[in-house]
Order: sequence, then structure tokens, then C-alpha cells
Amino acid sequence: MVLACIMFSGWHSFSQSKFSEQTKSFIAFNVPVIAMKDALLIDGTGNAAKPHQTVIISNGKIDWVGNNDKASIPAAAAIIDLNGKALMPGFVMLHEHMYISAHAMEQRYAHLRQTPATFPRLYLGAGATTIRTAGNVEPYSDLNLKKDIDAGKIPGPQMEVTAPYLEGKGSMFPQMKHLATPEDAVAFVNFWADQGFTSFKAYMFINKPTLKAAIDAVHARGLKITGHLCAVTYREAAEMGIDQLEHGFVASTDFQVAKKENECPPNADYALAGVNVDTDASVRQLLQYLVAKKTIITSTLAVFEGYTAAQPAPSAELLSYFSPDSRDFYQQQLAGIKSSPSIGDDDKVFVNNARMEKMFYDMGGLLTVGTDPTGNGGTIAGFGNWRAIELLVEADGFTPLQAIRIATLNGASALGLQHQVGTIAIGKQADLIIVDGDPSTNISDIRKVQYVFKQGIGFDAKKLFASVKGRVGFN
Ligand SMILES: [Zn+2]
Repeated sequence: MVLACIMFSGWHSFSQSKFSEQTKSFIAFNVPVIAMKDALLIDGTGNAAKPHQTVIISNGKIDWVGNNDKASIPAAAAIIDLNGKALMPGFVMLHEHMYISAHAMEQRYAHLRQTPATFPRLYLGAGATTIRTAGNVEPYSDLNLKKDIDAGKIPGPQMEVTAPYLEGKGSMFPQMKHLATPEDAVAFVNFWADQGFTSFKAYMFINKPTLKAAIDAVHARGLKITGHLCAVTYREAAEMGIDQLEHGFVASTDFQVAKKENECPPNADYALAGVNVDTDASVRQLLQYLVAKKTIITSTLAVFEGYTAAQPAPSAELLSYFSPDSRDFYQQQLAGIKSSPSIGDDDKVFVNNARMEKMFYDMGGLLTVGTDPTGNGGTIAGFGNWRAIELLVEADGFTPLQAIRIATLNGASALGLQHQVGTIAIGKQADLIIVDGDPSTNISDIRKVQYVFKQGIGFDAKKLFASVKGRVGFN
């Protein structure tokens, strides 16, 4: 047993019957009252970590937080001694998917493969207790997965489910509907909202009138819409009232030379390569406009790092999680990227985007973070979540505490869930990560997850990961 002082007397089992045998096999703590003692507390607000803190949780909620010596621990509480460990809020990550891009290829005809067996376990095991799926290609699979996770049949994170993509004509994705008119978009939004989807995502080839109709229809349902845009610029979308934009500024075509209205040009991904972030007034003006419009930005650095020259070689551990065909696909992609003529531009885009994300945050913008487990096939749930957060420090220049806030409180705020999740505070859901290290000084310590508590139920992170080894990409 890794944790000391687990006392096994006097409790009765808490809602055991709720969980399937499969889910139970990953649960390490399932008791109504738990006192986590002597933790280094990183609360998600960005405030300094506090040593010698106790957190008492009761029936899935945080009941008390404070200094060890002020804690009055209920007699019935299970006690977990966290001396030498850090306690953090569960991550709230906003650009997640239940599919992988391995096997997707044929350039411009990209078929995506659903991963409902492996990804939920990797997300939860990495500490992502709440995720937004940010677009899907198998709507009923995602919806039913959410229901089964909520019912305890399958271990996984709390899911904010995003409807199928609002895409336009010209798309390279055969799994998406290609909306032709504003009326199409309204019918599409209402249909999927009726099915139970609670957020929407506009995609690259949607045009201005169709996007405007979609935004208004989503807002009429009291829901939110984000976008990975291209044909529509960031400024145009913000002006129309879009709530959020994905991929930092990489998907921004605002800096595209001679861009035609409503056109997504083939080289759109490289528009940012030609920008001088420090001297081009248009950069600061766009950031100021987005801050003023309260448009939220999602950073997805992990997936973009996969196209840069400087990316670290994949670890043997990471590779061991892939199914054989997915590992082959990823390694072929990597070899292609290293010899690609556009790699210099990818590097410039990566650096410029990182600078702009930091500027946006420093100007008061709400920056969130997500994984986007697609790209070269090597960015996957779990490992990708950690990498996306590490890169906020390594590439953007945030402090570890700021990066943790972006991955917790900021994500919760963007979803309107800041009163339920995102920080360690009295009354909130007991969504907590126990880490064997100190991520407030070394961000990579977020990888040392031992237990992940979701609504007070403690899951064994290593068991969740081990259960999908060699299978990622297969299912
Ligand atoms: Zn995505």
C-alpha cells in the first residue's frame, strides 16, 4: 500500500451497488467520510501551495479545508496520510475526444476511429475528472458513454458532451455533415440539443452566415459554442458572439495575407508563421478585441508540438500503450514530419502561438487548456493531458501554479461549472488528485498521479493506465 495509515474500522460501504464489477476493480477508496491529512495543498486558484493541510470530504463533497492543527476529524472518517504528497483539484480539460486520428489517412479524407474503451480510463487516470469532448464523430457512442460513466458502469471522467461538428462544404472529414445553409445549421443545433448534447463546436469550413445562425440557435437553447475555425476569422466569430475558440491562435486566419471572405485556404495553418508578434500592431489589436468580447481561448500545445523539429522522442512507456497498428502509424507520421519541408513554418507557428497565448492571459483573457488527441497520432488521452499542461510552462512561460489554474479553475469557469469543480474549496465536488511530488515547483510531477477522486470516490490511477496498455488506438 502506497499510502500510510489507512484505517479499516467503523465504516460502511458508500453506494457500492452503484458501480459495476468492472468499475469497482479500479476503486481504491469508497467510503462516505475521508480525512486527507498533511497534504501540500495546491488549490487551483493559482495561490501558493500550502503545506500541512487537511481536507475532509463527506458524501462526495469537500466539507472542510484547513491547517492540520485546526482540523476536527470525524470519528468515522477514513484517514489518508498525505505527508510528502500534493493534493490538487481534478483537471477540467476542454479539448478532449473519444477518438484518435491513427488510421485516419489519405490526406484530405480523414476517417477517425472511436476509442471508448481506452480513453475514458486514461483521462480519469491522468486526473482529468471533467472533460469537454469538443466535437465528436459518433454521437450516440459519446452520449451513451457519458450515461454509462455517470451510472458507474464504466470508469471515466464527468463528460460535457459536444455535439457533432458544425462543418461546411469542403471538409476533409467524411464522418461530418457538411452544412449548406443557415437553416441547415439551426435544424442541426436543435436536433442534437434535443438528443442531449450540451455544447457545440463549429469547424473549419463553416461560413459566416451559417456560423451566425448556429451561434444564435445554440444561445437560444442556453448552451455554449466553441470553434476550430478557418473560413471565418477569429475577429469575425467574436463579433458574432462565439463563446470560445480552440487551438490558441493557430486556427486564426486573421493574419492570412489576401484572405478571401468565407474561404479556408489550404495553407491556413501557416498564417501565423509570418507574423511578428512583438511589432505587428494587428496582433495586440486582435487580442484586445477578444479580451473585450470575453471570448475564451483553448490552448492545445501538445498536438502542435507533434509537428515541430524540437519535439522530444516518444518514451518507451508512451509507445507501450499503443496497439501495434497505431504505434506503426504514429512512427510513420513522425518520420514524415522530420523530413517535411514545412517543419520550419510549424516551428514558427508554435513559438508565435505560445507567445500570443501568454499575452492574451496577461491582458486578462480567459485561457483554458485541452489535449486534442489527434494530430500525428502520438497525442493520446492521459499522456497528452499532462503534456498539454507541461507545455503551458515550457512553451508559453507560465508558472506551474498558473498552468494548474488554467487546467482546473479556468476550465471550470469556461464551462460555467466554477461553483461545482475546479478548485479545492468547501462545498465543491470532491474531485481531487493525489500526486507523489510537488507540481507547484516541478510541473512534470503532475505525471506522478497515485489516486484520482471523482465525487469522493478514489480511483487507482496506475490500475486504470495498466488496463489499457497495448490497446490505445485499437478501441
Ligand atoms: Zn479537436
